[in-house]
Amino acid sequence: MRDTLVLNASFEPLSTVTLNRAVVLVLQDKAVVEQAHPGLRMRGAAIDIPVPRVIRLCRYVRVPFRRHAPWSRRGVLVRDQHRCAYCGRRASTVDHVVPRAQGGQDTWLNTVASCAEDNHRKAARTPEEAGMPLLRQPFVPSPADAMLLAMGAGVRSSPFRWPAPAGDAAA
Ligand SMILES: [Zn+2]
Repeated sequence: MRDTLVLNASFEPLSTVTLNRAVVLVLQDKAVVEQAHPGLRMRGAAIDIPVPRVIRLCRYVRVPFRRHAPWSRRGVLVRDQHRCAYCGRRASTVDHVVPRAQGGQDTWLNTVASCAEDNHRKAARTPEEAGMPLLRQPFVPSPADAMLLAMGAGVRSSPFRWPAPAGDAAA
């Protein structure tokens, strides 16, 4: 009930996102409300919009991967927005969290974007062994993640809580 269906600008269904994310997309003028929950509105200091059940993106996005995206180095870089998981700078390589020498696999959960320096420094060690903690945990991209990445929006963060108390939702 709280997930919102997202349609591409072409009206093709893309995925579902959380209600919070849907509202953010509408407030950022990236999407319009196509269908709302009758009688419900989200109110904040500067907002008052119907609670979206279906939204449609204002611009057509080409989604790079859909359900069950196969692992790829390029996919890892896109998922991590080309940011190094160890220092946050621009990343151009993919690091195995558990190194291949220790049996680490080519999987979404075992690989992160890394700058060449950190990749070289970490070498065939785990983050613990190298004393290089991950700034964020790798995740398997969902169809919603893929869509948000294609739109250039970050994933896994939302300034909203539900229900949004008055005055708390205007940021
Ligand atoms: Zn780095």
